[in-house]
Amino acid sequence: MLLASNTKKQMATCKACGKDFISFRPLAQVCSISCAKKHVASQKKEEKQKFKARKEKVKPRSKWMQEAQSEFNRYIRLRDRGLPCISCDRDNKSKQNAGHFLSTGARPELRFDERNVHKQCEHCNSYLSGNQAAYRIRLIKRIGLELVEWLEGPHEPNKHTIDDLRQIKETYRAKAKELENQWDQTTKSAPPSGPGLTQEPD
Ligand SMILES: [Zn+2]
Ligand SMILES: [Zn+2]
Repeated sequence: MLLASNTKKQMATCKACGKDFISFRPLAQVCSISCAKKHVASQKKEEKQKFKARKEKVKPRSKWMQEAQSEFNRYIRLRDRGLPCISCDRDNKSKQNAGHFLSTGARPELRFDERNVHKQCEHCNSYLSGNQAAYRIRLIKRIGLELVEWLEGPHEPNKHTIDDLRQIKETYRAKAKELENQWDQTTKSAPPSGPGLTQEPD
């Protein structure tokens, strides 16, 4: 009562769960339908990661710069969420920007310095080109004259390599997430009209 020898049975290792199974089909890679689904999903994920890595390899520095700036600016807007515009003191509901005190063109080395960037309304940021004189007055109130003068003083040039920009992007994405989590906890434990986030000095 032996099995017919033409039944091509062989042992194989499932690519999804790693268990050995009896394969009735040559080249079978998975042991079950649920493992087949898992296997397809993980292959898709792998493809996506490879694609992302290939894309990052050819991503120009300017794109890294843009992405790092966007994460940094988002963090600044979250950090200053409870504060009015740094230049006009208005707490208007219009679009809020992260405004540089000393511009990125004039002082590129302060582009990602948290003391140099604060929440600013669209009016001051775009239409008044940063409203700098008024910015300075309120910046002194916020961080002190000493730090403002330090910002205005000489600084080492900073070349921001792609690796630096990648690091900045990741750091500020994480810092923004942390603020959002804190915010979630505050809003859960206090009424929405309660105090906003407390400012921590840089
Ligand atoms: Zn399996
Ligand atoms: Zn303003």
